Amino acid sequence: MIDVDLVLVGGGGAASLVLAALDREGATGLRVAVVDPVHKRGQDRTWAFWGTPGTFLDPLLSRAWDAVDVVTAAGRRTLPLHPLRYAMLRSAPLYELAGAAEQRMGAVRVTAVAGAVDDDGERVVVSGPDGAPLVRAAWALDSRPRGPVRPGRTEWLQHFRGWWLEADRPVFDAGRAVLMDFRTPQPARGVSFGYVLPVSDRFALVEYTEFSPAVLTGDAYDAALRGYCGLLGLDLDTLRVREVEDGIIPMTDGVFEARPSPRVVRLGTAGGATRPSTGFTFTAMVRQAGRIAGEVAAGRPPLPGAAYPARHRWMDAVQLRALDRGLVDGVAFFGRLFDRNPPERVLRFLDGTTSWREDLALMSTSPLVPMMRAAAGDAFVRTTRAVELPFT
Ligand SMILES: Cc1cc2nc3c(=O)[nH]c(=O)nc-3n(C[C@H](O)[C@H](O)[C@H](O)COP(=O)(O)OP(=O)(O)OC[C@H]3O[C@@H](n4cnc5c(N)ncnc54)[C@H](O)[C@@H]3O)c2cc1C
Repeated sequence: MIDVDLVLVGGGGAASLVLAALDREGATGLRVAVVDPVHKRGQDRTWAFWGTPGTFLDPLLSRAWDAVDVVTAAGRRTLPLHPLRYAMLRSAPLYELAGAAEQRMGAVRVTAVAGAVDDDGERVVVSGPDGAPLVRAAWALDSRPRGPVRPGRTEWLQHFRGWWLEADRPVFDAGRAVLMDFRTPQPARGVSFGYVLPVSDRFALVEYTEFSPAVLTGDAYDAALRGYCGLLGLDLDTLRVREVEDGIIPMTDGVFEARPSPRVVRLGTAGGATRPSTGFTFTAMVRQAGRIAGEVAAGRPPLPGAAYPARHRWMDAVQLRALDRGLVDGVAFFGRLFDRNPPERVLRFLDGTTSWREDLALMSTSPLVPMMRAAAGDAFVRTTRAVELPFT
């Protein structure tokens, strides 16, 4: 059996960021193994995120924008983001960076499906599905996809399809990214929007996204995308769809178990890094990877800290409930959020880095009566569950 200090169970986005961060910290003496049936390479997703420029990610980006547009039926608002910027990272450069880090650190790659992860409090043993032990480690970082340990009071999804569109002549404005365009037809329950991330004036990712309880059929995403391209004035007969990108990301106030046992830490979406109110995950994964590497470099356990403050998870639960129960109109809610707050405050809130004072300022700009009704409903269900749980 392979014996290491740290085993990464799952080698996707979260694990790639951890490998890159460990390498940056110069963790050469650390014995690392990665267990994943797939060695991730190439383009399987595109990450869009905001953050401050000047990090290790800069050379990997396909494009970054200092301002983004939010569009509603009432018009187009351009939000200046300074000191932040909105950035696009395609998966291939990150997987490459992680691969190079793996090589430099001499990490062991185990191309296998992981089954049980047994923790006796001293060591962790990762076995295959047949129970045969694969790796023994002091610590395990487990990012295999898994749902919440306790179901949410609201279970929504961010689900989408994107087309990478290529044109022979300039049709996109490469200096303008559209963050959310709410002119798309709205679903009966949920919110929909399109967005445009242009890499050049001839190549862009155009997506149709819904925040809602259930996914659509492939045909329905295609129809929605065709409709959105029509709104953008794009003539699909003159464009080529070079790649299609589908995704389903949880948006729930369910509890993701971040530390199932003393020496096992869950990372990425499985560890609660996905922001319930938006589905954005990437920035929290970067932050957690940095913390893990910092802790390891300091000779401490690889603990990433909570992905988001508890009060933000509560605020998200209330927002999800208000949207789900139809207490607020989704388009009006997001429009108002960006109308009445500096964009930087909204974006840092969504990343989980705003202060109490800023959170209060944000709350004061939301529609108070419906949000209070949602908060009261949330409190009632929490109390009822807390009473029920000891007997279940
Ligand atoms: C198409 C797409 C686009 C996205 N875009 C954005 C975005 O723009 N911005 C943003 O913030 N978030 C985005 N996300 C959400 C999130 O950032 C990504 O899902 C991210 O990849 C999550 O990282 P992860 O490590 O948790 O999961 P993954 O990257 O999915 O990695 C999980 C890994 O576990 C492995 N695995 C599964 N089962 C086993 C097993 N039994 N044993 C061992 N390994 C196993 C898989 O092979 C995989 O490599 C997107 C998600 C998708 C799907």
